[in-house]
Amino acid sequence: MLIQADALRRIVSAIFARAGCSAAESERVARSLVSANLVGHDSHGVVRVPRYVQMMRDGRLLPDRTIEIVTDTPVLAVVDGGFGFGQTVAPQAVRLGIDKARRNGAAVIALRNAGHVGRVGDWAEMAAEAGLVSVHFVNAAGSILVAPFGGTERRFSTAPFCAGVPRPGEPPLILDFATSVVAEGKVLVAAKGGKPVPPGSLIEPDGRLTSDPATLYGDAGPDAPPEKRENRGAIRAMGEHKGSGLALICELLGGALTGNGTAGPGPRPFANGMLSIYMDPAAFDAAGFFPEEMRRYLDFVKSARPAEAGGEVLLPGEPEQRSRAKRLAEGIPLPDDAWNSILAAARGAGLREEEIRAILG
Ligand code: NAD
Repeated sequence: MLIQADALRRIVSAIFARAGCSAAESERVARSLVSANLVGHDSHGVVRVPRYVQMMRDGRLLPDRTIEIVTDTPVLAVVDGGFGFGQTVAPQAVRLGIDKARRNGAAVIALRNAGHVGRVGDWAEMAAEAGLVSVHFVNAAGSILVAPFGGTERRFSTAPFCAGVPRPGEPPLILDFATSVVAEGKVLVAAKGGKPVPPGSLIEPDGRLTSDPATLYGDAGPDAPPEKRENRGAIRAMGEHKGSGLALICELLGGALTGNGTAGPGPRPFANGMLSIYMDPAAFDAAGFFPEEMRRYLDFVKSARPAEAGGEVLLPGEPEQRSRAKRLAEGIPLPDDAWNSILAAARGAGLREEEIRAILG
């Protein structure tokens, strides 16, 4: 089905409000999830609603938290998200980084114990809107899913890496990806009847490559939030030894240095850790060389002959900008399974059928 972004945002916001978040937080979480669907990352969109609600019920995700500042100097801070919604505590941490980098030219912020921060690109976009370059190393404690290069057993989270670069008068460059072949959410989308993951994205304990989501989740029913079962297969690290090495660095910087905790060993409560570096280009480049050189260089990169007839070299962030424009105009495509699990979450949160109909208009 196709659903308009506004209707989707309203129903998701109503679910979180009924589940116990403030109106402001419900709206923030809904906007963030729907925005991930708009940019084409359905893996980090509304498909997450049942899992977030379940985590709230279990007390693993807490409403309306404010970051606690553990360490504070002019150029760095360590902050604790207290297992609050990532969509609430991450922007607080980013705000702190923006303020420090504006005052001092650069800043490093270590965020620990955040609920799922969603699409990391949101936070690089927030920094870019403030005119700052940013780099983010992220891990997910309690979400061990990815086999390292040369292994079949889970050792890493999907540990995303992200960098954002503002461009005067243009949308920012946003490079933002999981260091696994696919983000876990893409397996979740496939498990819910959406786009299948590419062949060989997953690995069975015996080393066989597969694309079957049951490798991660077993056979969850259509309305159940799939849980990542232990002792089954893994997602593969991207980019052979190089991607596997970057995943390791994300675990060490996002997980260990922040105090969040790495993906393993042993069970841990789910928490995203995010080590972010913010840089003010003006502090590096008083002569204004950077924006003009970047413009020339990006034109040069895009001018490379396409590998396929009718193809095009895209910059990081361009696929998302195009998807946002198209989906805002045409609506967001949702597989029936994903939609049904949102309706089930709405009913589970106590919304009556007539309320759901009224919200959807
Ligand atoms: P992906 O494989 O779709 O890669 C996305 C990146 O590649 C973007 O920067 C995009 O602009 C760029 N890109 C895509 N196609 C391109 C092309 N043809 N030419 C040039 N650049 C192109 O992303 P993914 O690995 O599936 O990750 C999806 C999302 O999942 C990310 O937003 C990530 O932050 C998020 N994530 C979050 C967590 C978490 O714990 N919070 C964990 C893993 C992933």
